Amino acid sequence: MPGDGRVGIGFDIHRLEPADPGGIVLGGVTVPCPYRLIAHSDGDVVLHALCDALLGAVGAGDLGELFPDTDAAHAGRDSCEFVREVLALPALAAFRLVNLDVNIIAQQPRLGPHKPAIRARLQELFELTSDRVGVKARSHEQVDAVGEARAIVCHAAILLAAR
Ligand code: MG
Repeated sequence: MPGDGRVGIGFDIHRLEPADPGGIVLGGVTVPCPYRLIAHSDGDVVLHALCDALLGAVGAGDLGELFPDTDAAHAGRDSCEFVREVLALPALAAFRLVNLDVNIIAQQPRLGPHKPAIRARLQELFELTSDRVGVKARSHEQVDAVGEARAIVCHAAILLAAR
């Protein structure tokens, strides 16, 4: 219906462990570092949180329902494919994405230098202008598992408007 707006939130966490060679994928961008994310897919917490936000906004379930980690077909999968498949869902066809915003929480690696690349990749994946894509990164002040560099977390919010 005209004027219909929807909001969605998403969260994801993946375990982190030292690795040599390492490297993790966040927001579709490979960040070189001496760690790897433990996950069935590529472990991209940013894209997983954003997919859940999209799905939540239209009451279409969650990422685990769509792409179960018990399905070998999703092993090591590029999460950009999850984004494309979610964006193509009929449930989303009546809406356009207004903006998205993410909070990435990681003690290691330090993400400040990588924020511009992550933001640019999200603009591309979600077809949004730069003023509609927020990427924040922060540490966890050395507190708990995230602060001990044993995990990385992402929170996401998105807004949809009726086409
Ligand atoms: Mg995940």
